[in-house]
Amino acid sequence: YKISMTQMEVLGVLGRGQYGVVHKVFHKPTKVTMALKEIRLELNQRALQQIIMELDVLHKARSPYIVDFYGAFFSESCVYYSMEYMDFGSLDRLYPAGIPEAVLAKITFAVVRGLQFLKDELNIIHRDVKPTNILVNKKGEVKLCDFGVSGELNKSLAKTHVGCQSYMAPERIVGPGSGPSGYTIQSDVWSLGLTIIEVAIGRFPYDNSGFANVFDQLNAIVHGDAPTLPADRYSDMACDFVAQCLNKDSKTRPTYQQLLDHEWMKHAESDDVDMQDWAERAHALFLARTSKSS
Ligand code: ATP
Ligand code: MG
Repeated sequence: YKISMTQMEVLGVLGRGQYGVVHKVFHKPTKVTMALKEIRLELNQRALQQIIMELDVLHKARSPYIVDFYGAFFSESCVYYSMEYMDFGSLDRLYPAGIPEAVLAKITFAVVRGLQFLKDELNIIHRDVKPTNILVNKKGEVKLCDFGVSGELNKSLAKTHVGCQSYMAPERIVGPGSGPSGYTIQSDVWSLGLTIIEVAIGRFPYDNSGFANVFDQLNAIVHGDAPTLPADRYSDMACDFVAQCLNKDSKTRPTYQQLLDHEWMKHAESDDVDMQDWAERAHALFLARTSKSS
């Protein structure tokens, strides 16, 4: 089945990233509302074709912790990627409301299971774990998106990357593993740790304002102490879990199975948390904030 632009009715804009816009669209043939991500790349036809082909493995990626993939195509110099529409958007929109520890634990559990699925079933490393790539729907389900399935796409994104907030692990910045080719599973575990703290405290854990430039920030990641969860607001279990993810020595960082065996995740798994209720409240607060500011 070939998906194309002419089948889409554009309903609105869901957000903007470094590489393009994500639209909410209605896919007329199937009557499914989807999110359509645009990635602007200055690439030749062959490279674009290669990316579309590599994205195809996503048709096999079915997990409750991974956003469903519907298809990809290219048009002019953009790759378009259609995926499951997640009503409440990404975590960065929902965390300013403050997140109770039980909810944080459930979110973390979903992300770890998602990352483990990508590694075990598809043999892929996410490469971009951060709050904007963790999506929530109105049922309160938490799913990962924007993972590095296509080698060709990873290559061209790495060339154009200009982030000012870095979720990069220390070993990605200096040492033998640095550079786009040195990505490992352990680097995703670091980004997971930073993401958990950001969601908990409501801002990026490294204080950007104190840095004169992006090199200062990279320096702090490599030479400074790793950030921690505030011990006065989170349990010892939660703090220990995050500290293990943010071990500066990548070789002794835990595997996904070890993370799932951690007591914080064991609790999260059996805990009965009303995620739908939390998601509805957090989203209502997001809407109230954005209508006030516009
Ligand atoms: P960056 O470009 O640095 O990776 P980003 O992840 O925010 O940042 P995009 O991936 O282009 O950039 O996404 C832009 C925004 O669109 C996201 O922040 C998210 O809020 C929203 N979004 C993305 N995918 C979906 C989806 N499937 N359903 C609903 N909203 C989405
Ligand atoms: Mg994204």
